[in-house]
Amino acid sequence: MVEEKPQIVLPGERLCVLEEFLSGKGTRVSADGVVFATVVGRVKFDRNKREVHVEVIKELDNITVGDIVLGEVRELQSKSAMIRILGKNGRLLKHQRVAALLAKPGSKESLGHYVSVGDVILAKVTSIISGLLNVSIWEPGLGVIQAICDNCGSTMTNVKKDKYNVYCPKCRKFDTRKMCAHHGNEKRLYSWLGLMT
Ligand SMILES: [Zn+2]
Repeated sequence: MVEEKPQIVLPGERLCVLEEFLSGKGTRVSADGVVFATVVGRVKFDRNKREVHVEVIKELDNITVGDIVLGEVRELQSKSAMIRILGKNGRLLKHQRVAALLAKPGSKESLGHYVSVGDVILAKVTSIISGLLNVSIWEPGLGVIQAICDNCGSTMTNVKKDKYNVYCPKCRKFDTRKMCAHHGNEKRLYSWLGLMT
C-alpha cells in the first residue's frame, strides 16, 4: 500500500520502484528500475492502472526584469546554461519559459562547477532582449535549491568536505554547487508551491 497524500516532488526525486507502480507521465525509469519524477508537480498513484504520474502545477504570470524565478537547469555548456523557468515571485507559471544563465563574471571556472543538469535553482531576471530571458544566480540569496547528481540522477545532500559542498547518498559522488545561501530550502520550495501550512 502506498500512502495517498498530495505530495509535491521535484525533478529527479525518487517515487517508487517498477515493481510497485509503472512509470507514467512526468516520470522516468532508471536502469535499475527506480521511477523518478521529471517535472515539479503533484504525485498521483493510480492503483487501477498501477501507474505513477506527476501532474505539473500551473499558474499564469508574466516575467519582468528583477523577478526572482524558480527554474530547472536543462542544458549545460561551459559558459551558458538553458534554464526552464517554472515559477516567479512565489507562484508557478502557467506557461513555462526558457532563460539563459551565463557563467559567473570574471570566473575561470566553467558553469558546470556551479550548477548541473536537473538542478532546481532560484535566479534573478537580469535582462529580457527580444523575448529572451537572461537570469543570474551570483548573488548570495540565489543559486541551487536542490542539486541533482549528474552521475545517477538522485537528489544530493549538503556536505562540507574539502572543496566539495554536495554529496550523492546513492552513488557517493562529491561535487560542487553554487548553493542558495539559505537554510530550510525545502520549506522555501514548498512556500513557492503555495503549500506552506
Ligand atoms: Zn549519484
